[in-house]
This record gives sequence, C-alpha cells and structure tokens, in this order.
Amino acid sequence: MNLSDATEIRDAVRSRKVKATEVVSSLVARAKAANAKLNAFHEILEEDAMRQAAAVDAAVAAGRDPGPMAGVPVAVKDNIATHEGHTTCSSRMLENYRSPFDATCVERLRAAGAVVMGKTNLDEFAMGSSSEHCAWGPVRNPWDQARVPGGSSGGSAAAAAAAICGVALGSDTGGSIRQPASLCGCVGFKPTYGRVSRYGLVAFGSSLDQIGPLARTVRDAALTYAVMAGADPRDSTSAQRPVEDPLQDLERPIEGLRVGVPTQYMSDANDPRVNTLIQSSLDRLRGAGASIVPVELPLTDVGISTYYVIAPAEASANLARFDGIRYGHRAPARAGQSLDDLYAESRAQGFGPEVQRRIMLGTYVLSAGYYDAYYGRALKVRRRIKAEFDRAFETCDVIAGPASPTPAFRPGELSDPLQMYLCDVYTVNTNIAGIPGVSVPIGFVEDGGTRLPVGLHLQAPAMADARLLRAARMVESLHASACVSAPI
Ligand code: GLN
Repeated sequence: MNLSDATEIRDAVRSRKVKATEVVSSLVARAKAANAKLNAFHEILEEDAMRQAAAVDAAVAAGRDPGPMAGVPVAVKDNIATHEGHTTCSSRMLENYRSPFDATCVERLRAAGAVVMGKTNLDEFAMGSSSEHCAWGPVRNPWDQARVPGGSSGGSAAAAAAAICGVALGSDTGGSIRQPASLCGCVGFKPTYGRVSRYGLVAFGSSLDQIGPLARTVRDAALTYAVMAGADPRDSTSAQRPVEDPLQDLERPIEGLRVGVPTQYMSDANDPRVNTLIQSSLDRLRGAGASIVPVELPLTDVGISTYYVIAPAEASANLARFDGIRYGHRAPARAGQSLDDLYAESRAQGFGPEVQRRIMLGTYVLSAGYYDAYYGRALKVRRRIKAEFDRAFETCDVIAGPASPTPAFRPGELSDPLQMYLCDVYTVNTNIAGIPGVSVPIGFVEDGGTRLPVGLHLQAPAMADARLLRAARMVESLHASACVSAPI
C-alpha cells in the first residue's frame, strides 16, 4: 500500500487495515529524513500529530466513523493559522508567533479525521515565486535539489511531490499554489474565490487570496477541497452557495469537453520545451474526444502590471498590523524614542526586502496623488480581464495552457524582482477574475541530466470547481507516467 496517498490512507484506516498512528509515525520519519535535503517544513509537529492520530484510532476502535480524511497527515503552509506549533509566514516578524486558534479550513480537516503534521516554508508572507526568500532558508525542488520548487507555497509543493505528507495546503494570491505544483510535479488547485474560508489565513491580497490543496492526485485534491469548502460565518466573503461535490462524477470524463486555448498562452517567450509538452497534452485530449477551441485573451500580458498594483495595495493595508506593538517583532526601544520610530525600526528588522518593496509599492499606488492613476486604473482593468474570461467561456468549458512559462530554475537565477514577477504571467489573471485554476503534471523536460516536471494549467468559470476537477482528472488519466512522486 502506498502510505502517502490520502484516499488510500483513509480507506485503510477506516477498514482497520492500518492504524492512523502507524501512518503518521512512518510519514513523519520519512519527512524528517527528507527535510534535511528539502527544507520543506519549518516545523514537523510529531507529538501533536501522534496525539491526533491516536484520537482517530480510538474513534475507529469505538466503532465511530473517523471521517472522510481519517488519519491523513496534512502539511500546512505556515501562513495558515494552526493551534499547534508556530504560524510564522516564514518571516522574522512572526518568529515567535503562536496562533490561539485554527483556521477554519484546518478545523474542518481535523473534524474530518485529518492530522496536522507540520508547517511548511514559503516565500515571506507568500510574496514570491521561488521559495528562496524564506527567513528559515530556501526550499529545494525534490526533482533536483539545485533548483527552486517555485513559490510561494514551495514547501507544501515539495512535500506533496516528494510524498512526505498525505496532502498539503497552500494559498494562492497570484499563482502560489499552481506555479510550485507545476515546478514540483504535483496537483495544485486554487478554488473559486470565496469557496474556501480565508479565516485564519494571514491576509496578503484579500480580494485575491484563496486557500487550496496540493496533492499527488486529482482525487486527493478534490477530497481535501470537498472537506474544506463552504460558507463560513467568520469569513463574510465566503460564498453562500452550496458546494457541488467534486468527487461525485470525478471519474466520469466530460463528454465533448471544449478546451479553449488562448493564442496568447502559447507564446514564443515560453521555454519551447514547455510549449511542446502542452501541445502534446492538448493532442491527447483531442484524441480522447475533447475539442480544442482557439480563444482570445488579449489582456493576458496586462495581468502582471494590474496584479502588481492591486496585490501590493492590499498587502500594504494588511501588513500595517505588524508594527511590533500589536503583533510581531519589536525592536528594542530606546529612551525618548517616538512610537513612530519604534514602528519603523521594528518593520525594518522584521520584514525582508521583498515585503518592504511591496509595502512601498502599495502605499505609493494608494497615495492621494496617484490613487486614480494607478489603483483606480488597475480596478478598471480588473473588470475588463473578468469580462474577457466571460466572453472566452461562451465557447469553451475550460481554458488550458502552461502554469509556468518555464520549468524549475536555479536559486539566484531570477535576482531581478521584475523577472521573478513574470513567472506568474499565466496565473495572476485567474485570481484577478476570481475563477478556479488547477495545475496537473503532464510530463518532464530533460535538463542537464535531470528530469524537471511541467504542469498543464486549466481554468474554469467561477463556481465550476467540480467541472474543473473533472477535466483535471481527465488530463491526469492521459498522463499516468507524469503523475509520480519525486525520487527523494
Ligand atoms: N508570485 C506572486 C507574488 O509574488 C503570487 C504570490 C501568491 O500567489 N501568494 O505576489
């Protein structure tokens, strides 16, 4: 039995073939050994995990239903609040912070029998695309440790891909679940905005943020999503509409699936090997009965500039609470020092350079003289991007393309922040429009003796999450040899 596959773990625990405590102790041992190489986890919460697992075993022994995720060890991105361990956002600012509560998604996972096994590293406050800029050291790609795993959910992607957790949780503001999933070779799913409660997610761009699963299979991602999704009175932006069960028809291919392929997505600026893999995946879909429909998304390129106005604007407001007084790192106070000085010093010491850059950018675009020129404009473009997707979805059911223009790169290779921002060219508009997106492994490119994974990115209209996962399952079934765990 594959002890890291969430659905199989659940079935085995429920049918008493294995104990949750056995699953957790074996996965924790594997995670500890692999973590020395990958730095995927900031904390592995062995004791707490064993305690939760014992409670699952006790429920099974007492004849109670232990839940749909019984005994599944979950790796939680460290910007999602957990009662156990720390919640640091991979920032010095929150080095010692412990949350007094669980995020709603974590609470729901636990209620379903899942076990929180640890907290994963990210780019500080989820700002980045490489997981290099993490206060606890860079995360490494399990396929080639000389490469980045992508970001910002790089720790979760590496853990899921290397099969050192059952499933992992990430957050996606502009691509942070899907891009690392593509670079690490696992499934990464960003649900429709508002489908999963953001309560307990440390806010970055509140109108863009969404929590979602990273897993080795579409089924496991769908299961995790099904447990977490649904309205939450503690998040007023969570959608009220009932959640369509994504598992119901998951294995049934969508007949006559219309796959829209924007001409803008198959750009010459992509790594040509990525384009070749995407093309062959589309050919397989056509062979399986889907029709490939050309569509136009002319604002694809404008997404990056729009995103890098809206996201920093929201971030600058959200991060104002970390002032060393109410929250976060406090610089040593000097006699006679003004409170403003103390705030400034605490921030300068607590935040890394990228976070400071975003706050500067955000306060600038929101400042009185520039608000209309930048922020107001970006909101108008946002509406047009959304309208463009609506139009495209009139002729197709899902939209397909690369999740990332390149496979995994080397640390330091994208030292210019603007180059780093371009990693998200195919993912930011999903968040801008609030629609769901998923990356599914479709193959590898050979690079200097190593194999680097590539993912196909699928997007669907808002609230069509179940349809999107079904399409993703079709893609997965056409690429069985790509959907394997990393050899670590
Ligand atoms: N890479 C993008 C950024 O740096 C997206 C991050 C995210 O989705 N959290 O903002």
